[in-house]
Amino acid sequence: MSVPDALRSLRRDIAIANRILAQEGLLDTFGHVSARHPHDASRYLLSRSRAPELVEADDVIEFTLDSEPVAATDARLYAERVIHGCIYRLRPDVQAVCHHHAPAIMPYTISGTPLVPVFLLGAAIGREAPFWDSRDDFGDTNLLVAKPEEGLSLARALGQQAIVLMRRHGATVVGTSLAELVFRSVYSARNAEFQTQAQAHGIVSPLSPGEIERAAAAHAKMLPRAWEYWVTRLQKRGELPPECAP
Ligand code: MN
Repeated sequence: MSVPDALRSLRRDIAIANRILAQEGLLDTFGHVSARHPHDASRYLLSRSRAPELVEADDVIEFTLDSEPVAATDARLYAERVIHGCIYRLRPDVQAVCHHHAPAIMPYTISGTPLVPVFLLGAAIGREAPFWDSRDDFGDTNLLVAKPEEGLSLARALGQQAIVLMRRHGATVVGTSLAELVFRSVYSARNAEFQTQAQAHGIVSPLSPGEIERAAAAHAKMLPRAWEYWVTRLQKRGELPPECAP
């Protein structure tokens, strides 16, 4: 695929990923999904400031890892885009990032109860979901992650993990592809629902480290089926983003 074709296709996939995560209840007015530029690791692609369910391929803008737009633009931009730039800088393996405030996750960001993988698909969380408390580095703030130093602090807290919880705010998830990112985002939120329900029944223990590793490896084979399912659901509802002009 030529560079312009690959970029066009990725822009539309970013719009689709935004819409899937809105459809699955993780994104509403807020939250965003980005992908690293396929041919320039020092850039990433993210929509202009718009509710995720409305994002189209043409909304997607190219940014440097300082989260500045590559081309001058009058468009309104997401205040929290530094989350994406800082993670791409610290994690060369990461190709896609989602920041969200999913209702299922929020209680864990408020109580500080550790989110742990409790079922097969929940292994998408990985061994650990670190908890980032903005007060540790910055004291009282407006809780947004809008300054480069805040993005960097969050990216450091994420470390080598797949998801980081953000105190009284939300979560940020990473993947090595958009499909893996969406899978991890959906099933870490589903895990949070199940964990919350199971905790009402009694003490809940996580999967063992060996189970987490083996189950997460099995997820790779499930990605095409999951992506096809989510895209078809969008299509049936007439919610697929428009095809891009060639
Ligand atoms: Mn946020």
